[in-house]
Amino acid sequence: MEQFLKKLGKKASEKQNENKKFFTKLKKKPPKNLDYVMQELHEEEFKKTDCLECANCCKTTGPLFTNTDVERIAKHFRQKPQKFIENYLRVDEDNDYVLQKVPCTFLGADNYCSIYNVRPKACREFPHTDRKKFQQISNLTMKNVVICPAAYNIVEQMKKRIK
Ligand code: SF4
Ligand code: SF4
Repeated sequence: MEQFLKKLGKKASEKQNENKKFFTKLKKKPPKNLDYVMQELHEEEFKKTDCLECANCCKTTGPLFTNTDVERIAKHFRQKPQKFIENYLRVDEDNDYVLQKVPCTFLGADNYCSIYNVRPKACREFPHTDRKKFQQISNLTMKNVVICPAAYNIVEQMKKRIK
């Protein structure tokens, strides 16, 4: 996994034009069974890829924290939401709450998330490869393939499955 992660940025940038063309076409005419195909590709990939050997998303990019996330996690720490925000979050250029720093404060040296059961929705759903109407998040996916080996592999498989 370490070797794969080292090469991922370069591999993804080599595929950038190809991916852009693929997603432009996908957006125009998504296949009827796209949700089904994505579910299948997602499950196949995550049978092989162990996030605990990776944690690259937690190390290199942070999730957005919704107000519901903040309330839930603050409660877990028995803190007031405002205190939790002051301790860990900042507001980004899109006016969203994000982590003050990466790697994420809640990531352990063993790649376990110390707030796993109450983690933000964005962490639970990343890399979003099993969501419905996947063609709608093409731009986000183009960014995710640079940091997430699973997303990279899934997009490669998509290009083989969907002509
Ligand atoms: S979701 Fe992707 S980047 Fe995050 S730990 Fe799993 S494989 Fe790595
Ligand atoms: S909250 Fe947990 S899952 Fe989310 S980025 Fe931090 S360590 Fe990773």
